[in-house]
Formats: sequence, structure tokens, C-alpha cells
Amino acid sequence: MLKIKRGRMIYKNWLRENFLKGKKPGRSFLKKNISTECLVIGGGIAGLHAALKLIDSGKKVVLLEKTICGGSSSGQSGGFLSPESEEDMSALTKRYDKKSAKTIYGIPKKGVELIANNIKKYKFKCDFRKQDSLLISAKESHNKKIFEEARAKKAANLPHKILNKAELKKIHPGKNYLMGLRYPGSYGIDSFAYCREMKNLLVKKGVKIYEGSEVKKINGNTAITRFGSAKARDIIICVDKLRDEIGGDFSKKYYHLQTYIAISEPLNREEMKSIFPNGELMCWDTNWDYAYYRPVFENRILVGGSSAMTAYMKKERHSPEVINYFIGDLKSNFPKIKNVKFTHYWAGLIDVTKDLVPIADYEPKNKSIQYALGCAGLNWAAYCGDYLARRAVNPKNTRDLSEFLGANRKFFISDKVQSILGKKISFFISHLRHFLK
Ligand SMILES: Cc1cc2nc3c(=O)[nH]c(=O)nc-3n(C[C@H](O)[C@H](O)[C@H](O)COP(=O)(O)OP(=O)(O)OC[C@H]3O[C@@H](n4cnc5c(N)ncnc54)[C@H](O)[C@@H]3O)c2cc1C
Repeated sequence: MLKIKRGRMIYKNWLRENFLKGKKPGRSFLKKNISTECLVIGGGIAGLHAALKLIDSGKKVVLLEKTICGGSSSGQSGGFLSPESEEDMSALTKRYDKKSAKTIYGIPKKGVELIANNIKKYKFKCDFRKQDSLLISAKESHNKKIFEEARAKKAANLPHKILNKAELKKIHPGKNYLMGLRYPGSYGIDSFAYCREMKNLLVKKGVKIYEGSEVKKINGNTAITRFGSAKARDIIICVDKLRDEIGGDFSKKYYHLQTYIAISEPLNREEMKSIFPNGELMCWDTNWDYAYYRPVFENRILVGGSSAMTAYMKKERHSPEVINYFIGDLKSNFPKIKNVKFTHYWAGLIDVTKDLVPIADYEPKNKSIQYALGCAGLNWAAYCGDYLARRAVNPKNTRDLSEFLGANRKFFISDKVQSILGKKISFFISHLRHFLK
């Protein structure tokens, strides 16, 4: 592995910096008591998609966001827009029967379509790139993961191609790579830019958006902020790091996984060709703490990954050693980029549930309030926001997915056992069991 000099990168979300380029995002916070038909709390991908569905269904909509739309996970992501997020087809077929696995796989797939369709329909500028996915094995013992995933995709009739070492070399000649699995249907996006485009679209369509407006608590159907309140017939809560004051028991149901991203300076043509001689791909490897990377705006490379040590930390850890490991790995596979500098890096906590499938459900005592929680992936978040909005507008015509997304589904570690083990350990054990299966 090549040694990386420390202290070169700055800790900053490059996506946000690049989009805003020194401009302020222009907040307007809630200063009065208002009422509306539908209230969305949280302006990440889930909340923005909920608001879009509601306004397009003719509802009066208000959205309250703590910081700025896209200010949390949704605006920090690596922008891998693929039906696979934490869950690929082989993982799903181990947990569910064939029909259910297909239904669940279809949810993030639909989420990808929702996002891609918005980008095309509204001509959003968000570095939208068609990039096939490439799953790579760099260890003999991991090749079975490639075969397993190919088998699961074949059984579900999903397009894919296994690549042996020689075939892989032609499209992605990493020195240590042994096998690959390529499949279509995935895209790269600048997720911060997408959130800001969505915000502008919603404002144009008539949604009243208040940024810098954290909901402190909910009384009945009224959300209270520091300087005002919003009363609504229907409330859709799509916040991260849910606190008891607005989540009650639901706040037990999620934890987070920490991941890191870094972005390089622009590459020249030859450097980029040395990694992708036959066109762009979005790549990740078969390791548990998988590395992921893809080309982005201005011919830069975005690299991401996490480590077992930092994934379950309670708070973000802003230190570059984890991401430096992945940068070093990439450089040792592609020596032509050994002198390319990585300029920015950042960390983020992705909200997750114990089984890595989100919760999209009603408040048990009040069906006019719904929650989307632990949406691990842009795709799941888009789908869950849209799904809850459809349920608010037209519950009878919305397919009920409580079996998969309901808060009361069975988890390997129950809430009772979790209260003894603690959240961190319960989530760690649940995920470990899941990945080792
Ligand atoms: C570093 C990183 C890289 C990632 N890379 C990828 C990737 O490549 N591909 C992928 O699919 N996914 C990726 N993810 C995951 C993905 O970004 C998230 O799963 C997804 O964006 C979650 O969207 P969300 O709308 O549910 O949550 P969020 O984006 O977290 O939105 C929740 C919003 O609620 C607001 N909020 C919180 N509390 C309150 C309150 N009390 N009142 C009002 N507002 C509140 C927050 O400020 C926030 O804006 C990544 C995540 C991170 C952190």
C-alpha cells in the first residue's frame, strides 16, 4: 500500500462548498403560528420527495427543516444511485422468500427511478451521470460473493455480467482485482445539488419551506419550533437522529453507521483512462467495510469507505485515517494516480435500522402522523417519502408495505433485549449477523 502524507486534506463537504461557492443558502425560519393541510418535517431526500408528492396531489404543504434542505446525510452522500444500497439481491434472498425479496428489491429500485425521473423532467443540474455498477473482488476468498450475487440476480431476472480477470482488466485494470460483476440501472449524482434543486422546485410549486426551523416537540397535530408553530391535518416526519420529543418510542428503532468520503483534485485524461479505459463506472468492493469510488464533476474521483472501528461511534470522528486507507488502496491499484491529491474529506452518520430496511409507518396512536426512519440510501429515502405522502393522500390506493417497512416487524434483537444490551451493541450484533449470513 502507498503511504499517504497526512494533513493535506481539509475537512469540508466539497459538494456543498462547490454548489454554494461562497453564497449563503438563503434561509427563512418560521416566526409565527401557521396552519396547513400537510406538514413535512425534515428536508432531506425523504422529506423533499414527500413534499413533492403532496403538492402534486393538490395539497397545501409546509416543510420545516432544522438546518438547510440537504444539510444532513442527503447532501453529504457519495451520490451512488443504485438499487443496491446496504442490501444486494443475494442478501435479500437469504432473509426473505423469493417473492418478498423481489418486492423489497423493487423499493429502492423505484426510489432510483423517482430521483432519475425528477432530474430528467425538471432538468436539474446535479452532475447526473449514467454509471453502471461494478462490484469487485480483490481476494480469492471473496469471489464467491460475486458468484452468489450473480446467481441471485439471475434468479430474479436482473441483468448482470460476471467478468473474469482478463475481462475486468479491459474496463477496470486495478492491479489487485480478480473478478467483477457489472450491472446497469445505476447513476451518479451530486446529492447536495439535487436537494437544492428540489427545494427550488418545491418553492416554485407553492410549498412553504422554512429552513433553520428545528421542530422541538409535537403537541397533537402541532409542531413547535423555537419562534413559531405549524398545525396540520397530516404530518410526515422524515428527520434524522430522531429525539424522543418528536419520536417517542420510534427513537429506539434507529442508530447510525459512520462513513467517510474524500474527493480528489481534477484528473487529466490519461489518469482517468488508467482507471476507466472504457467509460465511467461506479465501483465498490466485496469487503465488509467496502471501499467505493466513482468519477464526478470536473474529472475528479470521489472515494468512500468506513471501518469497523469507527462505524458505530456515537459521534462523528473527523480524522482522515480511515479515508486515507481507501485512498492508498485506490492508488496502489492505479499507480498512474499516485501523485493526484485528495483535497477534501468529510464524515457522516447514516441512520439505519437493525435490519437495514427503513421504517415507514404511522404513529401508533395517531394515523395522521407518519414517520420515515433509517432510510439508508438516497433511493430508500426517496421511496419512503413518496410512499408516506401517497398514504396520506390516498391510503386505499396505496399498496400497504407494513410487512416490510412497519415499525413492529420482528427484529433479531427485540426492544426489550436492546434495553439491556444498549443501542450500539444491539445494532452492531444485528448487522454483524446480517453481514455474516
Ligand atoms: C457520507 C455519506 C455518504 C453516503 N453515500 C451514499 C451513497 O453514495 N448512496 C446512497 O444511496 N446513500 C448514501 N448515503 C446515505 C444517504 O445519504 C441517506 O441514507 C439519505 O440521504 C437519508 O435521507 P433522509 O431524507 O432520510 O435523511 P437526511 O438527509 O438525514 O434528512 C433528514 C433531515 O431532517 C432534518 N431534521 C432533523 N431533525 C429535525 C427537526 N427536529 N426538525 C426539523 N428538521 C429536522 C435534518 O436537518 C435533515 O436535513 C450516504 C450518507 C453519508 C452520510
